[in-house]
Amino acid sequence: MLTGLKSLVRKATSIFASPKAQTYPIIIPRSDHSLSRQQLSPNAVKVLYRLNKAGFDAYLVGGCIRDHLIGVNAKDFDVVTNATPEEIHDLFSNSRLIGRRFRLVHVTFGREIIEVSTFRANSAKDDSASKPQESLKGKDSARSAHGIMLRDNVYGSIEEDAERRDFTFNALYYNVQDFSIHDYCGGLEDIENKKIRIIGDPRERYQEDPVRMLRAIRFAGKLGFDIEEETAAPIKEMAHLLDHIPPARLFEEVLKLLGSGNGIKTFHLLRQYGLFKYLFPDTEALLVSGWKRDDINPEAFILQGLENTDKRLQAGKTTAPYFLYAVMLWPSVVLRHEEFQAQGMPITPALHQAASMVLDNQVASTAIPRRFSTPMREIWDMQFRLPKRYGKRAFVLLEHPRFRAAFDFLLIRELSGTEMGGLGAWWEAFQFASEHEQRELIKSIDARSNDKEGPKKRRPRRRRKSNAPQRETPEK
Ligand code: ATP
Ligand code: MG
Repeated sequence: MLTGLKSLVRKATSIFASPKAQTYPIIIPRSDHSLSRQQLSPNAVKVLYRLNKAGFDAYLVGGCIRDHLIGVNAKDFDVVTNATPEEIHDLFSNSRLIGRRFRLVHVTFGREIIEVSTFRANSAKDDSASKPQESLKGKDSARSAHGIMLRDNVYGSIEEDAERRDFTFNALYYNVQDFSIHDYCGGLEDIENKKIRIIGDPRERYQEDPVRMLRAIRFAGKLGFDIEEETAAPIKEMAHLLDHIPPARLFEEVLKLLGSGNGIKTFHLLRQYGLFKYLFPDTEALLVSGWKRDDINPEAFILQGLENTDKRLQAGKTTAPYFLYAVMLWPSVVLRHEEFQAQGMPITPALHQAASMVLDNQVASTAIPRRFSTPMREIWDMQFRLPKRYGKRAFVLLEHPRFRAAFDFLLIRELSGTEMGGLGAWWEAFQFASEHEQRELIKSIDARSNDKEGPKKRRPRRRRKSNAPQRETPEK
């Protein structure tokens, strides 16, 4: 994985071994690192050149440099500069000013967005120590009662910008003028040692922004690096600070944590560090309680769902975020469903009630936009419809926009040990069969003597016509 880093590592290792090791920045010239301009987004390079040409300093920073050095393809390119957001905006007609917490500029090239921000200082620090450049006098920072940073728009120098970043490997800057990499906090050595190390005092940094704890776990899951001891130490004890983070921000983080192809590993790490319960409190409580039923083992089911997502992503396929959320909350839905039925509620209203209750509880932790919660409900609902295939029902279900997701969900249930009488295989065959074969498949269910949905059971439908109460058949 680290092959792209060889020459750089050799150089960095010798630098760190030297007595001058503490002198930052360490500047690695082009000849000593493996990051080539060809690996970078041509649009990001264009932005750097335009800023330089206008007399500003400009660097690529963060994930894109880190990932390329490790040998992972970067997904987005962030530029940082000493130009103010307004100056950046004036330079690019294809740009717009965005953000409140962090004011920055998006420069758009078709579907690609290059994020350009101004060097910022850590607003927690004593201002007298920082000497913002003349042109960057903007002062705008605010904190909540819990010490959490609400806004952070204090501009600063590149050194200050490096210091306010989260982890050492995220404070590497690429200078397109001479193709060198500038390392301000020892990130190269930490990449070499596969360490995730927070910059500065871990407690202070988590207090300022508790999401950094989630980011540490995310990088551990994604890169397979270890969280350095002091960086890891306060996490369990400070995890509760996540309660003060807006649910919408946590929602975004969860998608990145569990939906980036390393879901299983990340799920275990989140639980190990006591963070999971602040993201999915009901699910955590249920897992801790050890609740199980013959037809559901919550932990096995969740792990199966994550494995499915990981495999799809690793194979370059897409996954729907609502699917992952439907997986994470399904055990709680099943439990609540059982409780509502025990109170005498019929199966379908009990399911809808259970889904509403679980979603209502969840949005207090991680907001779920309606465009996600609606398909989640549909997937859950269809788990009770997929067993009912007789007559025209199978054809109708096949046309449902959520069929594919509901079918995949059903397979995960089966794979995690839920006995469904070959339902997944039946649907697999049905989807790809000719119309004639499909009719045969439907007949094959009707012929099964133990199928409560078979033709003999059609009789009560006549009674329904005479307004008798509708009966639902529980899932086997
Ligand atoms: P990826 O994009 O692969 O998820 P990334 O490190 O690029 O990882 P971004 O969220 O794109 O993550 O952030 C870009 C950079 O901004 C980071 O590399 C880091 O330097 C800085 N950063 C992001 N979030 C924080 C934070 N909460 N605290 C301090 N610095 C941060
Ligand atoms: Mg990024």
